[in-house]
Amino acid sequence: MTPNNNTPSRALQQDARAWSAFTGTKYTSALRQVSSPLAQGLLGPRVSARRLIAVLSDHELIGAQGGVPLLGEDGVRSDSPWHFDGKSDYIQLALITDMLRMFTPTSGAEAAEVGSYSLKHTAEWFLSPHCSYVSNGRLIWAAAALGLPIADPNRDGPNLLIGVSEREHDYVHRMVGSGQTRPQVHHYRPAGYEQLRTVLTRAADGESIPHGWVPPAPVGEPAPFHDWLIRQVGRNDVVGDLAADYSAGVRDSDHRIACTASELLAIFHEVSHSSEAYDTVVSAIAEWIRTEPSTTYIRTEQISGDSHDHRGWGAGSGTTERYEYLCPCGDGTIIEEHDNIPGFREHDVWIACDKCRAEWHFVEGRGVRDWALQPASVSAAV
Ligand SMILES: [Zn+2]
Repeated sequence: MTPNNNTPSRALQQDARAWSAFTGTKYTSALRQVSSPLAQGLLGPRVSARRLIAVLSDHELIGAQGGVPLLGEDGVRSDSPWHFDGKSDYIQLALITDMLRMFTPTSGAEAAEVGSYSLKHTAEWFLSPHCSYVSNGRLIWAAAALGLPIADPNRDGPNLLIGVSEREHDYVHRMVGSGQTRPQVHHYRPAGYEQLRTVLTRAADGESIPHGWVPPAPVGEPAPFHDWLIRQVGRNDVVGDLAADYSAGVRDSDHRIACTASELLAIFHEVSHSSEAYDTVVSAIAEWIRTEPSTTYIRTEQISGDSHDHRGWGAGSGTTERYEYLCPCGDGTIIEEHDNIPGFREHDVWIACDKCRAEWHFVEGRGVRDWALQPASVSAAV
């Protein structure tokens, strides 16, 4: 070895000795691996080789605990020996632990719910080309070393269940996998997803990644309309069907979350739908407004807006403003106009869509700039 300023720390030397003995490879190759920038912990503390080795004997579920090894390359109960290449085996395990760290772990009553075999593919896709093959056994091994919940509900076969968020995993699986339907929106993107992609590339170029990445605290934006709509799933009517479709669309990342009723209309403007489905949306919004009278009313997306100077009508100059918004059904517009001219001031807003004019009313008592809509059936009931 060439002496340099970066004399490996005692911890790295101890780790290299342990890994060298465990895998039957040379100390120098083990030291090269444990010193690699890729193996220093990209989203958290470095996972030590000694910790990895200890887990195989001590872990309550996958540890041998004095008996025969339970875990091998293909998983549990598979009687498949580990194949260590002496060049990248430790680095690969370190990368798999970082891949698992990007997900929110499940806890408490939440069962471990993602199959190790599915996660192994996700790890391979995500970590490619830095780690081209991930075995089922190594995925389980890394999860155990991280202390993630692990379950063995069927007590059969080589696969186990790992305690990471099922929705986040589904999102990543579809983002990185081949032949997958890509998510359209990103509400289930794990906190560490972009961070890990970025630092993985930098570490692969030899850069040492500073520790200290902290997952952002969940924002927890209130989503009262979303919460209400989700509670309607299971109803035996059209609103129940709409709620089920909406819920499936959120789960599959086909569309975003509608925090407000206005956002549900906006989502409908983006996806193709039948006129029956639109009518159901109007009924659902009417029911929601009747249930939650304190709710904010409906505003739609602005599609254009202009303000012009005006020479005026003899009493000085002014401005005119004209704004167009989509109407609720999306086929027409709502027009808001302001004449701010001395001696000639006028403010008006109207629905330029026959269908929507029949189905929606402006909420009373609001200014022209502050207009809001509610379904006509709500106004009629007041
Ligand atoms: Zn309309």
